[in-house]
Amino acid sequence: TIGVVVLDTHGRLAVGTSTGGKGFERIGRVSDSAMPAGNYATVKAAVSCTGIGEDIIDECLAPKIVIRVTDGMSLKDAMQRSFTEAKNHKRDFGAIALDADGAIAWGKTCEVLLAAYHDGEKIADTLEWTGDDLIGYC
Ligand code: ASP
Repeated sequence: TIGVVVLDTHGRLAVGTSTGGKGFERIGRVSDSAMPAGNYATVKAAVSCTGIGEDIIDECLAPKIVIRVTDGMSLKDAMQRSFTEAKNHKRDFGAIALDADGAIAWGKTCEVLLAAYHDGEKIADTLEWTGDDLIGYC
């Protein structure tokens, strides 16, 4: 997956997610990347997901995080709550997120999030993952 969340100089948020699929999928399968479940932005927050699409769809992950931010939760707390639930449900995925104030957060339940960059600088790397690093933020 290549996932991108952006905030422009006018304060507009956008998200984009590309995927090669999870591999060996059935003909006709539609990835979460092509649905709001895995790729969602409003004026409040933007979230891009990677990992097992069926798990992402079951959790409705990207809209869940965005709605929590819309309801007043901080991006960090929205990510933390959503990833704690996902971990409890034994889901395999990761996500990057950005809010309208420029807060950044990333999370993962497994080693799916290979790397995250901000302004060209690497801010998360699975190679450094210890297994309990559920979310990060800055
Ligand atoms: N989420 C994608 C899918 O399940 C796989 C990926 O690119 O992470 O199709």
